[in-house]
Amino acid sequence: MDKAGQTSSIALDQRLSKALESMSDAFIMVDHDWRFVYVNSEAERLLHCPRAEVLGTNIWDRFPEAVGGRYYQEYQRAVADQVAVAFEEYYPPLDLWTEIRAYPCEDGLAIYFIAINERKAAENAIETLAFYDKLTALPNRQLFLQYVDVALIAGRPGAVLLIDLDNFKSLNDTRGHEAGDTLLNEVASRLLAIAGKGDTVARFGGDEFALLLEAHGDAARYADRVAAAAQASFARGFDIGDSPHYSSASIGVALFDHASTSVDEVLKRADLAMYEAKAAGRNAVRVFQPQMEARLQARVALEADLRHALERQQFLLHYQPLADIDGSMTGAEALLRWQHPQRGLVAPGEFIPVAEDTGIILALGQWVLQTACQRLARWGAQAATRTLTMAVNVSALQFHGPGFVRQVQDVLAATGANPRCLKLELTESVLVQDVDDTIAKMHTLRALGVGFSLDDFGTGYSSLSSLHKLPLTQLKIDQSFIRDALGEQHGAVIARTILALGKALQLEVLAEGVETAAHLAFIAEAGCQAYQGYLFSRPLPDAELDTFLARTNCD
Ligand code: C2E
Ligand code: MG
Ligand code: MG
Repeated sequence: MDKAGQTSSIALDQRLSKALESMSDAFIMVDHDWRFVYVNSEAERLLHCPRAEVLGTNIWDRFPEAVGGRYYQEYQRAVADQVAVAFEEYYPPLDLWTEIRAYPCEDGLAIYFIAINERKAAENAIETLAFYDKLTALPNRQLFLQYVDVALIAGRPGAVLLIDLDNFKSLNDTRGHEAGDTLLNEVASRLLAIAGKGDTVARFGGDEFALLLEAHGDAARYADRVAAAAQASFARGFDIGDSPHYSSASIGVALFDHASTSVDEVLKRADLAMYEAKAAGRNAVRVFQPQMEARLQARVALEADLRHALERQQFLLHYQPLADIDGSMTGAEALLRWQHPQRGLVAPGEFIPVAEDTGIILALGQWVLQTACQRLARWGAQAATRTLTMAVNVSALQFHGPGFVRQVQDVLAATGANPRCLKLELTESVLVQDVDDTIAKMHTLRALGVGFSLDDFGTGYSSLSSLHKLPLTQLKIDQSFIRDALGEQHGAVIARTILALGKALQLEVLAEGVETAAHLAFIAEAGCQAYQGYLFSRPLPDAELDTFLARTNCD
C-alpha cells in the first residue's frame, strides 16, 4: 500500500473505531484462531475484559465456561457454514443475559451483543404474575390446568384434588385479612409438605387449592392417602397470631387415566366431588362418581323451582303440638312444607339448605314468621287458646340479616300477635357468629316479651361458657339423644346433662323426638317437663291443629 493509501486506511480505521466506540452495542471481533482482534468499550464493560489484557488472546481461554455451550456452538456454526447467527443466551459466571448477532467475515467473526437482563427480569415478572399466585407463590389455576393437560397427554394415571377450606370467610370477617393470609400461606406449606415429588400444588384463588397427583401405582389409593394426610394435617390446627385456629377442608377427588377426555372434564368432576364433600357437612373427602352429575342437575332444578315457589304460593306451614307433663298442649312449632307441583310435599331438610345457600331463606323466613304470627293472633283472640305459644324456626342467615329485629317488631304489630307467646328457635350455628351482636338483638326482642329456644341442643358447637350470657328461655334436647337414650349409646347421659344445665341456668328444657311411651317415661323421670314428638302428634296441617288441640286439652 502506498503512503496515501496507508494514511487513508488509518483514517478509515480511526473512523471505524470511533463508530464502534460510539455504538451502544457491545462489539467483539475475533480472528480465525479465535483470538480477540477488537473489543469496544461497551464489550469491555459488560464482559469485564480490559482490551489491554485480552487483545491477541484466545476467546475460549478467557471464557472457558462457554466452551461446548450455546455460544460456542453458534459461533462455530457461523464460521463453518458462513452464515449470520442470532440468539439469546445467559452466561452464568457474569450473570449476563445477552442478545447476540454474529457475522462471519474475511478476517474472522464479528460479534455484536447487548445486555438484556432487565428485559428478562420483566418477562419473568410477567410470567410470574400470569402463572403464579401472588400470596403463596404457588402455581395459579391457569398454570395448573396446563400441568393437567400435560399429564393427560402423557397418558399417565393420576388424580386432581380440589381442596376448599371450610368457613374461611368467617376467619377473614372476624380476625381480618391478615389472619386470613397467614392461614392461606400455612395451608400452602402444609400441602407442599404432603405432596410427593412430581406432584403439583396450586392455589386457585380465595380459599381453594388444588393438587395434581402423579400416581405411580394405584391412583385411587394414592389420592386417598394424600387426602387423608391433608385432613390430618389441618386437624392439628393453625397458629394465627397468638391464638390457635381450627380449619377443616372439603376435598373433591377426580381420578384420571389414559382414557380421560379433557382437562375441563377432569376439573368439573373434581369440582362436583368437592361440592358433595361440602354438602356432606364439610371436613369430608368425596371421590367423583357419575351419579353426582345427576344429583347436581336435580339440585339445580330444585333451586330454579324454589325461586318461584314463594310467588306461586307453594309453601305452607304444618304445626306440631307441644305437650307438658299432664299431656295437655301448650302450643305448637311451625314447620315449613313445600307443596311441589310434581314432587308432592317436600320436607324442609331437602330445601332449607338450598334456600339458605341462595338467600331465598330471607323472604321465606319472613313469610313463615308472618303466617305463624297470624295464627298466633287468632289463638290470642280466643280465651281457650290465649296462652298457647308458637315456636318459629329462624335460620342463621335470617337472624344475622339486615333488619331482623325490625322485621319481628313489624310482624308483631301488623298481626297483633302477643309477643309473650312467640318463641324463636335458634340453632347453635346462629350463636357462634358475632356473639355480641347476637346478644344485643336477643335482648331487644326479649324486652318485648319474645322468647328464645335453643334448637337441636347438643349437636352443635356452642361454647358452654357463653351460654349463660344469652337471654334464652328454653333448651331443646335434640331428638337423637332421646332416640339413643334407651339403647347402648350415651344419649341418656347427655339428656340428663342438658337437663342439669337447664336447671342451673334456670331455663326450661323440652325434649324433641319423643316417639314412644318408653321415651316419655325415661325423660320425664329424668326431670323433663316439656315434650314434642310423634307420641303426642305428628306435625299437622293448619286445618287439623285446632281440632286436635281442643280434643286433647278438653280430655
Ligand atoms: P326442628 O326445628 O328440630 O324440627 C323438628 C323436626 O323433627 C321436624 O322435622 C319434625 O317433624 C321432626 N319430629 C318431630 N317429632 C318427631 C319424632 O317423634 N320423631 C322423629 N323422628 N322426628 C320428629 P321437619 O318438619 O322435617 O323439620 C326439619 C327441620 O327443618 C327443623 O328441625 C328445622 O330445623 C327446619 N325447619 C323447619 N321449618 C323451618 C322454618 O320455617 N324455617 C327454618 N329456618 N327452618 C325450618
Ligand atoms: Mg325447631
Ligand atoms: Mg330440633
